[in-house]
Amino acid sequence: MKIKNKTAYDTRRLRAVLIACAREVWKREGSHYIKPKNLHVDVHYHRGASWVGGYAWYNSSSIVLKLPRPTRLYRYKEPLAFERNVADVFIHELGHCLGIKGHRNGRHDTHEHLYQDWIAAAVFEPIGLAEVRQKPKPDLRTQRYEHAKRTAEKHQRNLNRTKTLLKKWQRRVRYYERTMQGT
Ligand SMILES: [Zn+2]
Repeated sequence: MKIKNKTAYDTRRLRAVLIACAREVWKREGSHYIKPKNLHVDVHYHRGASWVGGYAWYNSSSIVLKLPRPTRLYRYKEPLAFERNVADVFIHELGHCLGIKGHRNGRHDTHEHLYQDWIAAAVFEPIGLAEVRQKPKPDLRTQRYEHAKRTAEKHQRNLNRTKTLLKKWQRRVRYYERTMQGT
């Protein structure tokens, strides 16, 4: 499955949900269905919406999934409600890929009504957001600050060592001065 993910959602965990759906459909539909690995899924934000949308071309292997922005997930109160909505829409779109055109009884079903029990029982890993990639290179000002801090610390260590040596040699001087006075 090729996924082009333009959202902040974690691609690996999103893929896990979609693959599970595609495998289930593949299992039931068999050979006249597109192999899960040959599917192309474009994922982008469902602009202004708080639910999952999508579309697909009939008898194709291409699907577009539209996910609400992470700030708009408020309607998904139950655990995995978002993931189940993704699964429901994705399986609907897979129906179009299989060539199902009709939307049943005025409802917008292709074949996802046959998968409701499976969707409800599926244990998905929550999709969540992608980890923020490694922190960006600090700017020049920050680099110079870090350098100044390191240099100051180095001189502080040198100063401490010098103070210790100074005390040691001052003691030695006093020792010789005392012994010289004694003669
Ligand atoms: Zn449709």
